[in-house]
Amino acid sequence: MLDKLRQDFLEKTTQILILDNTNRVLETDNSLFYIKRDSDITDFHPFFHVISSLFEDKRNEQKFYCVQMEVKGKTCFYDIRTVVDSEKKQIVLFIEDLTDHYKTVHQIKQVRNESIINFNITQELNHELNVQRGFKNKFLANVSHEIRTPLNSILGFLSVLENTSVDREQLDLISIIKESSKNLVSIVDDLLDISKIEAGRLEIKNKRFNFKKFTESLVKTYELQAEEKRLKFVADIGANLPRFLIGDQLRLNQILINLLENALKYTHQGTVMLRVSTNSRNMRRIPVTFEIKDTGIGIPKEHLTTIFESFTQLEKRGLFGGSGLGLSIVKQLTQLMDSDLEVESVEGEGSIFKFTIYMGVSHDQKEEKEVSITRKIDRKSGGAKKKKYRILLGEDIEVNQLLMMRLFADEGSYSLDIAKNGEQVVLFLEKYQYDLVLMDLTMPVMDGYDAALRIRNHTDKKIKKIPIIALTARTTEEEREAAKESGMNAYLTKPVNSEVLFKTIDRLLHRYKNKKTQESVK
Ligand code: ADP
Repeated sequence: MLDKLRQDFLEKTTQILILDNTNRVLETDNSLFYIKRDSDITDFHPFFHVISSLFEDKRNEQKFYCVQMEVKGKTCFYDIRTVVDSEKKQIVLFIEDLTDHYKTVHQIKQVRNESIINFNITQELNHELNVQRGFKNKFLANVSHEIRTPLNSILGFLSVLENTSVDREQLDLISIIKESSKNLVSIVDDLLDISKIEAGRLEIKNKRFNFKKFTESLVKTYELQAEEKRLKFVADIGANLPRFLIGDQLRLNQILINLLENALKYTHQGTVMLRVSTNSRNMRRIPVTFEIKDTGIGIPKEHLTTIFESFTQLEKRGLFGGSGLGLSIVKQLTQLMDSDLEVESVEGEGSIFKFTIYMGVSHDQKEEKEVSITRKIDRKSGGAKKKKYRILLGEDIEVNQLLMMRLFADEGSYSLDIAKNGEQVVLFLEKYQYDLVLMDLTMPVMDGYDAALRIRNHTDKKIKKIPIIALTARTTEEEREAAKESGMNAYLTKPVNSEVLFKTIDRLLHRYKNKKTQESVK
């Protein structure tokens, strides 16, 4: 029985042939295909030319895999085993039909190859995309720096111009130019933020802050702005909210400012409302819900999702100004805070933007004592000043030098010297006596970072400890970190606000003076 089964199986799958050493067919069972006795097998298929060489080979048995032949118009695949009988000068061929097997393997292989090719293409595309994205982000960072530098001097000199003898009309014009320049600064900031978010470099930094004060100051600002537009501003800040919370104040502020400004921008009558609430009494972490509601022009239903895409402004609404980046940033910021910005709106009736973030509740709910940095030094030249502080500015761009000179001209308590680059800053410090250094970061010959490092590693103790304030148009967190690492004590971004500049100078001078007194006491 078994023999019969084996025979049936072999008949269906294997053909046996006996040939002589001239490729002539001596015998065959024709199980798979028909070959005439005494015919030359190479006429059947050129593959069999290989046979004559087998008589010279030392191995008497060999196997050839996956030999492809056309049989009865069909492509077939065979494994062929050859056994040479040198004495008889004959060769036996066992031809096994493995067409189904090889076709399946072939298909699998093809699918595998295709998926490998697709994977490689995807990787290549991703790589290209990353390179492009990296280029775009670098480009944006550099361009925004280049734009910020001249903007800095425009805004600076406008402030100076404002304080000269100008009439009402000129003052109005100055304020328009100032407003447009500020808008440009905020667009540049938005571009930078978008590039940072896309590069995955924007981090949420949670810290303890006075939440009550934070919301109060927002309300104050927007109450005023609403009043200017003859709108009502309603603030509903939950009384059960803790005074001190843990969160990213900077980014939360950015989100709320964007939403409140939009609400005011797109509302012409009625009310803008800010509601902040929590429904939790948890002592460690609470969900805080922020709602910004307006009775403005509203958003058509079909645009409720597209408004969150970058550079989207609704048709015919361009007249409101803006870059169309605000909501995209806000949306992505809320997502970075594990939340999501939602919008409900009815055209012609108004909109509500809403999100909930989890914030930590600070253990310490006590109000810190306000360390007011009241200006110890009499700024105006008429004051009874005791000492003129000598400030050294490292700055290579002439308009920025001029602007600083102008700002310091009104200050009776300081004198200002200017060095053109970092190397000159160090040289001046070695040659003359200074109380503080203002350092631009991007300068030729030696930049601000290297100069700060040289100062901090100086052998002269007095030079080594001098307070340094970084002044830069670059606003990224990395630049700030790098400035700190190279030993600078404060970091101010251009356009420099003169009030902040002098407050920072006073604070550092005061701290430095106290340190010196303590050291001399020791
Ligand atoms: P823009 O700089 O144009 O304000 P945003 O990204 O902040 O850009 O907003 C995108 C678009 O969404 C706006 O151009 C405006 O048409 C619409 N929009 C945003 N907020 C409101 C709102 N409170 N009321 C009506 N439309 C709004």
